[in-house]
Amino acid sequence: MDTGGNSLPSGADGVKRKVCYFYDPEVGNYYYGQGHPMKPHRIRMTHALLAHYGLLQHMQVLKPFPARDRDLCRFHADDYVSFLRSITPETQQDQLRQLKRFNVGEDCPVFDGLYSFCQTYAGGSVGGAVKLNHGLCDIAINWAGGLHHAKKCEASGFCYVNDIVLAILELLKQHERVLYVDIDIHHGDGVEEAFYTTDRVMTVSFHKFGDYFPGTGDVRDIGYGKGKYYSLNVPLDDGIDDESYHHLFKPIIGKVMEVFRPGAVVLQCGADSLSGDRLGCFNLSIKGHAECVKFMRSFNVPLLLLGGGGYTIRNVARCWCYETGVALGVEVDDKMPQHEYYEYFGPDYALHVAPSNMENKNSRQLLEEIRNKLLDNLSKLQHAPSVQFQERPPDTEIPEVDEDQDDADERWDPDSDMDVDDEHKPLPNRVKREAVESEVRDMEGHKGMSEHARGFDTNAEETASTKVLDMSSMPIDEPNIKIEQENMSKASDHMYPKS
Ligand SMILES: [Zn+2]
Repeated sequence: MDTGGNSLPSGADGVKRKVCYFYDPEVGNYYYGQGHPMKPHRIRMTHALLAHYGLLQHMQVLKPFPARDRDLCRFHADDYVSFLRSITPETQQDQLRQLKRFNVGEDCPVFDGLYSFCQTYAGGSVGGAVKLNHGLCDIAINWAGGLHHAKKCEASGFCYVNDIVLAILELLKQHERVLYVDIDIHHGDGVEEAFYTTDRVMTVSFHKFGDYFPGTGDVRDIGYGKGKYYSLNVPLDDGIDDESYHHLFKPIIGKVMEVFRPGAVVLQCGADSLSGDRLGCFNLSIKGHAECVKFMRSFNVPLLLLGGGGYTIRNVARCWCYETGVALGVEVDDKMPQHEYYEYFGPDYALHVAPSNMENKNSRQLLEEIRNKLLDNLSKLQHAPSVQFQERPPDTEIPEVDEDQDDADERWDPDSDMDVDDEHKPLPNRVKREAVESEVRDMEGHKGMSEHARGFDTNAEETASTKVLDMSSMPIDEPNIKIEQENMSKASDHMYPKS
């Protein structure tokens, strides 16, 4: 497999990148419940592998600040955030209406510490965006993040708050255009929906399509209004292998980078697209999956790497460990070091696992059709007369990072919050789909607007993110970063001289 080869002149692919890695030692203790496939323990397993492979010492290891209510409310509805904060396993029986309203209870259960779990994983993703905005690293990693299904006022698909949307909103403060790429096996519906009507965020999702959760992500869903051609969907079928996947991924993403020219990229690295996943049905190897990271990295654009799905947890840890190595430019040994979760990795105790012999249902002809369709859409974007790319404004000087800075109230400048009033909130999915369909039907039959449709108006071009067009002139926030002392290996201590 080739290495991408799209390095910018400013740095070859082999050049080391400065990497920030967000990890909270508590994250592995959260538990969705018996039999639930989503296991935050996989994040701790990943971390243990990173520690024992000696990768932590090559990057800045940070404990995220928990996101606060008002941080979450940059995207989510106030009443939904209040609900998440107050609901407990003990009180949920008294809140049946609310549970139903916010889609909490089954796929998205109430469990002990639910709200702090949300604060932790969102804090890591937003913290990564802040680090990138300040130019303090080239790549930021938060394997606990990437929960792409969460909606403005609804939990979905094991996701409660959408850390990705929050991180992209943060990146939009500094970057005119942000690219979101999603390689989870499921469609990145929550992120697509949030930015469906803006041209400042392009979303590209590669996913299983057809009788599969969440059901959205048709190749014909391309964005709406100003956002037309800024949503890309790559629908795939069972058993796709590395070669077929990259037959699409590389030309499509290469073209996206050429025509969209993002100032920052967010890559959701959901590991349920790996071969042998408990819920997935693709046949990617870890190297094939990681090739997406390598390819994105080769463009030398600030990169936020997030986790996502992944339900055969030994393979999730393998994958995200290997991808951390790719981010660092370090080739990780296949032989696994002894560590506390070593027994999960038998009988081979190796990092890489062979893909299966399952049938690849993606015919070459179908792949060609999808590729041509998407490249055609991208060429329309390229030639659209209204599309005028602006040069990125220069970075604003920022003060020295105070590593001991720990005042939660000073972390984010409240004045720079991208609060949006209701009429600027993104279109809910169901409404969005109706809007798109009704465009074809000349805006007739606009029925079935649910409670989530409040705030929807037909002038759909105005969205959360178009509200922030002049973001580059806003004052830069204080970094929301705290160094995690007890979590750093001794070997990396010297990297943090106390100021
Ligand atoms: Zn998934």
